[in-house]
Amino acid sequence: MYPKIDHHGGAQGVTGSCHQLWFDHKHSLLVDCGLFQGQEVDDDLPALERLSIDFPIETIEALVVTHVHIDHIGRLPYLLAAGFRGPIICSPPSAHLLPLVIEDALKIGFTRNKVLIERFLDQVNQQLVVLPYKQWHSLLDQNGLAVKVRLQRAGHILGSAYIEVDYRSAVHGELSQREGNHKSQRIVFSGDLGAPWTPLLPAPRSPYRADILVLESTYGDRLHQHRRERSQQLAQLIEHAMHRKGHIIIPAFSIGRTQELLYELEHLLHQAEPDSVLKELEVIVDSPLAAKFTQSYRELKEWWDKEAWRRYRQGRHPLSFEELYTVDSHDEHLQTVNYLSRSQRSTLVIAASGMASGGRIVNYLKAMLGQSRHQILFTGYQAKGTPGADILRYGPAGGWVTLDGQRYDIRASVQQISGYSAHADQKDLVNFVRCMRDKPQEIRLVHGDNKARVALKGQLERLYSSDARMDEVQVLLAGQENG
Ligand SMILES: [Zn+2]
Repeated sequence: MYPKIDHHGGAQGVTGSCHQLWFDHKHSLLVDCGLFQGQEVDDDLPALERLSIDFPIETIEALVVTHVHIDHIGRLPYLLAAGFRGPIICSPPSAHLLPLVIEDALKIGFTRNKVLIERFLDQVNQQLVVLPYKQWHSLLDQNGLAVKVRLQRAGHILGSAYIEVDYRSAVHGELSQREGNHKSQRIVFSGDLGAPWTPLLPAPRSPYRADILVLESTYGDRLHQHRRERSQQLAQLIEHAMHRKGHIIIPAFSIGRTQELLYELEHLLHQAEPDSVLKELEVIVDSPLAAKFTQSYRELKEWWDKEAWRRYRQGRHPLSFEELYTVDSHDEHLQTVNYLSRSQRSTLVIAASGMASGGRIVNYLKAMLGQSRHQILFTGYQAKGTPGADILRYGPAGGWVTLDGQRYDIRASVQQISGYSAHADQKDLVNFVRCMRDKPQEIRLVHGDNKARVALKGQLERLYSSDARMDEVQVLLAGQENG
């Protein structure tokens, strides 16, 4: 019966990631504790009830955080409010970024009271356990049960990790090395896996082995564009908008995506010919949070990939450049929206939220959607039910979208560049399994809509059946194991 896994979110959808791994009926481990977003939010319940932790927490030995995106750690305040005082284990860069994310989440969802926020962050810091990559950490070793965890780089955002769990349980009496004395299992949680060419980050490498793999499947039914195509397309879309004297508006996650875009933009501007229209482009990051994260990304150079280091050694600043301007206060934000809506000088604006479901990007969209000279550009996943998904779906046909309860006609150009996804695509996900030395007998697909999961399941089954020496695999769609 053990180990067994319960999914408290992020199984049948892409948000609210939260998985509980049970070692026996008294001991368990929580992997992520994220917020639900978009259509996956149950609007019938009041916020506090919707978000409160609806599973018993007494058995949880530790929370392991795969990465600091809000859909993976956003329910942390509720977990602590429910009384969780165990260790919060994460990688060194995540430990640096996590308090910033939680502070922001508290301000939006809980309180603006500085003293309360301070107290809360103190509590988080007391519970944080920084675990370097590639290092085993013993979680439990008692009464015939031993559990260790290890983090490996996942290439999704700075600090992201996939988690290896080593589980040993005595069949009779005490644990020993003797053959047949214990049951042992290796469980791997992929978290969100990055694509091979994610700017700034090295590509993830597959684990050596797994018995059970809990695998994300956001893009389980899609293949991304190649790197060169995506930067060409980005340059072209910017140039087209500049010729129309329009602005380029990019909704983006403050963490990860914004920094990747800045990295790519620095390169585009660096490479542009002296007479290129790109030389006149201004770039604005309108998000104090994104600005803070960009600063952190600069400080966390140690974790950059080789290419970023090469540029840095050439005297370039991959995350800051002359044409980059940051908007801070809310007043300044409103002035900027107002100014740009009248200005003919093309500016590229990056603002959150990435799915346009809130945040400063909404004001830009309200001001720009109605004019055909502007370019709305999506570079990330748009969950069903978010304004981002609606703009993407209805925009190209001249439809409309609802923002803050009001209808806005879409006349601006709407495009998506898939190559900038921070998620692995179908081929990358299959390769993650293919490159394991000892492949899992059970794969649970999480973090993807059904279409994506079904497609990936088919590909994974094909992988196993292509080699007669491979054992059988059971590919499960988490959350519907019985269906
Ligand atoms: Zn993520």
